[in-house]
Amino acid sequence: MAKLKEPSFYDSVQRNFDRAAALTDLPKGLLAQIREVNSVYQMRFPVKIGKEYKVIEAYRVQHSQHRSPTKGGIRYSHKVTQEEVMALASLMTYKCALVDVPFGGAKGGVKISPRDYTPAQLENITRRYTTELIKKNFIGPGIDVPAPDYGTGAREMAWIFDTYSVFVGGIDAAACVTGKPVQQSGIRGREEATGRGVYYGIREVLTDQELMDSIGLTTGTEGKTIALQGLGNVGYYAGKICTKEGGMKVISVAEYEGAIYSKAGIDVDKLVKHRKRTGSILNFPGAENLEQRKMTLELSCDVLIPAALENQIRRDNASKIKAKIIAEAANGPTTADAEEILLKKNKIIIPDVYLNAGGVTVSYFEWLKNLSHMRFGRIDKRFDQNTYLNIVNLIERNTHKPITAQEKMMIARGADEIDLVRSGLEETMVTAYQQIRSVMRRRKKVTDLRTAAFISALNKISKDYISMGVFP
Ligand code: GLU
Repeated sequence: MAKLKEPSFYDSVQRNFDRAAALTDLPKGLLAQIREVNSVYQMRFPVKIGKEYKVIEAYRVQHSQHRSPTKGGIRYSHKVTQEEVMALASLMTYKCALVDVPFGGAKGGVKISPRDYTPAQLENITRRYTTELIKKNFIGPGIDVPAPDYGTGAREMAWIFDTYSVFVGGIDAAACVTGKPVQQSGIRGREEATGRGVYYGIREVLTDQELMDSIGLTTGTEGKTIALQGLGNVGYYAGKICTKEGGMKVISVAEYEGAIYSKAGIDVDKLVKHRKRTGSILNFPGAENLEQRKMTLELSCDVLIPAALENQIRRDNASKIKAKIIAEAANGPTTADAEEILLKKNKIIIPDVYLNAGGVTVSYFEWLKNLSHMRFGRIDKRFDQNTYLNIVNLIERNTHKPITAQEKMMIARGADEIDLVRSGLEETMVTAYQQIRSVMRRRKKVTDLRTAAFISALNKISKDYISMGVFP
């Protein structure tokens, strides 16, 4: 018998959409409009590498312009294809709607492996890509706002910002891209945002009595074990914050050079240092090397966090997954076929559209900061601090029970930018989770978190279209 073909990433996204759409009573035409990609800009441009010119293939896809600007990261990877960027852009639309970030979805991709280029060459490629976007009106604070994704970071965003400032400029130029370095109009807390959001999402699921009862797991994060695939920005912060703030234990990490295991737990900060020093996560003191990378995915643990790329859990390995919970920190790590297998095995999948929405949420805060030209906390910090101090002093005077200056400072603290960013992110992740669960409670046919998340997103997007008068 011919082997069945695994669905592509884009197929999986469309299947997830269709499964959810069938359970809504939204008009068919409206659903069809939401589902399709609005614009694809495919480009080829030359960049001088050494003495030669190299033709670079790149994309920017705007999936839905029902809200402006459109928003989504830029991926640098030799595996980039138009279909992949279309899948990622589609996910951005649903993600933004789900967490009430008022943007349409987009994504960019440059088909290069950053390892093959020097920083100066990467700068050339990034600046040229940006000018292509400017030329076609595919970038701007109110048009389309890129951000980091796999293979890019604050450095690339700074190049994009600078290029845009030179060619277009204007008072709001900084809002043309998010994820910038803090010193260059970025925001504190953006770098950790996706990983921190992953922690808040996992925490919500782990403290959900009803869901935990359904898979026979005790509630709470303390002591729960994690297998982590990917030690990039998202995987690193997710692992670190789950450990430090949730008391969880990372027992295995996989990266492209191999995988390690330690029953006692792995300190991801130390592991990152070890990797910088030796060039590999292997031979990490206190841990054993695993024979194969894929063993991390198949390990016995409470939570498996795929934090690398799409299509990692497929039909061929889904039945080997032993984790009770699959927490999708990456975009699209589970194919639609694998999902069916996992759900039959009573696994909980915390879907990407929800779980990794922390990045774009804090991008939204950064965009607002850029447009308001002011740091969060500047107006109210001192006012709050003085008010709290007055209250504490009043209590002290009336109770005759003085507290130390240090205690006073702790209670009477006004919020800094980082405090407000984290608080806004936590609020966003908690609220979106409650909305997803309320869909499941209202509609008995909806039994998994992904379908519920899509339904929640679709309801919001359709309201936008209806308010635009497009679908009366
Ligand atoms: N690339 C990230 C994502 O997949 C962040 C996008 C953004 O901040 O615009 O959600």
